Amino acid sequence: SSSESRHGFQAEVGRLLDIVAHSLYSERAVFLRELISNAADACDKLRYLSLTHADLIAGDPELKVVIRADAQAGTLTIADNGIGMNREDLVENLGTIARSGTAAFLKQATGDAAKDLALIGQFGVGFYAAFMVADQVEVVSRKAGETEAWRWSSDGRGEFEVVATERDKRGSDVILHLKADAREFLERDRLKKIVTKYSDHIPLPIFLAEDGKGSGGKEERLNEASALWMKPKSEITEQGYAEFYRHSAHAFDKPWMTLHFKVEGVLEYAGLLFVPSTRPFDLFDPDRKNRLKLYVKRVFITDSCDELVPPYLRFLRGVVDSSDLPLNISREMLQHNPVLAKMRAGITKRVLGELEKRAKDEPDAYADFWNQFGAVLKEGLYEQNDQGDALLSLARFRSTASDKLVSLADYLARMKPGQEAIYYITGETLEAASRSPHLEGFRARDVEVLLLTDPIDEFWVPAVGAYKEKPLRSVTRGGAELEKIVNAAADKKPAPPAPEGIDGLIALFKLTLKDAVKDVRSSQRLTESTACLVAEDGDLDINLERLLRQHKR
Ligand code: ADP
Ligand code: MG
Repeated sequence: SSSESRHGFQAEVGRLLDIVAHSLYSERAVFLRELISNAADACDKLRYLSLTHADLIAGDPELKVVIRADAQAGTLTIADNGIGMNREDLVENLGTIARSGTAAFLKQATGDAAKDLALIGQFGVGFYAAFMVADQVEVVSRKAGETEAWRWSSDGRGEFEVVATERDKRGSDVILHLKADAREFLERDRLKKIVTKYSDHIPLPIFLAEDGKGSGGKEERLNEASALWMKPKSEITEQGYAEFYRHSAHAFDKPWMTLHFKVEGVLEYAGLLFVPSTRPFDLFDPDRKNRLKLYVKRVFITDSCDELVPPYLRFLRGVVDSSDLPLNISREMLQHNPVLAKMRAGITKRVLGELEKRAKDEPDAYADFWNQFGAVLKEGLYEQNDQGDALLSLARFRSTASDKLVSLADYLARMKPGQEAIYYITGETLEAASRSPHLEGFRARDVEVLLLTDPIDEFWVPAVGAYKEKPLRSVTRGGAELEKIVNAAADKKPAPPAPEGIDGLIALFKLTLKDAVKDVRSSQRLTESTACLVAEDGDLDINLERLLRQHKR
């Protein structure tokens, strides 16, 4: 082969392949799910293109996946008649890390097999999962609308090769030369079980060829290929939902919440949405988009439609299928689309309503959800949208009054006579926040303080300002009106008179510290510590000032 046909993998691919080969043994059947899902994506892409370029699909309009097991050759082939890949596509898509989630995974990977397996479970590894079971992989592909075909091949050890070849129609064959210890994947029963487990509800027919050789022979249909989200709830089992979730989200975990609905009337759409039980690692990646799949009348349109849900719900997975959008809608036309805007409002309300119900009925399970995704929901508070009240009532906090998460309603119910504000303190960690000397006076008077440790807290709290007319107030502010709060314990101990000589001491402090501080005052707020820094009303909060200093250079 000419030197031009050989390529090195991107460094990250090399690392991923190493992990795939060494860590994933127990989960290796997922290679089939990954390859079928790629075939399904390829068919979805072609179907979408054919809406405007009908010629691309003519002649071979029935999109499908065919699996062929050739025991003699020891090969397993996953063939599709989807969009296919040309030379550039093969180099680009199969030589580099396509999915940003995979790159995020690699940043977290430790080299410890057990840990990496748990991590990778949240991603799936895509195409490279093929190397879990194969020591040689070939992809023979021809792109729709082109006449040339190409063969990509690699043993997964640093290099791959792309050479010209023949293929009589568009589409791709992924040919796995199975490792000696992976020959179980040639058994028909094993293949059938895996396909029904992982891919029963993908809306594309999957066939198993009766003989392992070329196409044209008899084929057995393996899956139902119905759009699960269009079925009535009564026909779907919990297991069915969970597998659909794993398929569409490339996930291994269970959905924490499943929301399946159909909206009829002025606007018609169906949704099958999931909240994962674990947080994806790229959730706070600035480039991270929501990953909901948008369909129009069961035709896949896109999985990166920013208009479908607000960014603070970007952890949702699943499908939304509209009957009102035009089938040939372009991705650009999706921006500022009034139908989509209405769907977005409806979906948002529905999801928040369901979360509210969970919070009420299953507070412990809700706490798990909050620990994973609370920081994201809080972004919605900062945005000041019309869901502000719903989001505030969904919010949970650490507090000085309880080991459990508390709500703002809990807080209001525990406020002391004379207390007019909801007090909070921000800090980098729970430990740092709860150790702050600013809390001493509040603790002594049994006044609850919320402990806020997410960076976003510095932003949404001042933006929101109040809950049910009670202002949110930082305990680090100069004006914390502790004196006004009468509680039984404090009543018995009247505030001690200012110690003698305090005025002289303060004057000395002021002289010494000069411009480093605005003022020096005596205060009731400390019971053990000698002094603390406070911010004046209207000035930046101390923790925020620290955060901003960190980010400014
Ligand atoms: P992902 O599917 O998440 O993008 P993968 O590693 O599974 O990541 O696949 C990488 C890319 O390779 C895909 O995005 C797609 O562009 C391309 N690809 C893989 N399999 C096929 C296929 N059967 N037909 C066409 N393109 C494919
Ligand atoms: Mg894939």
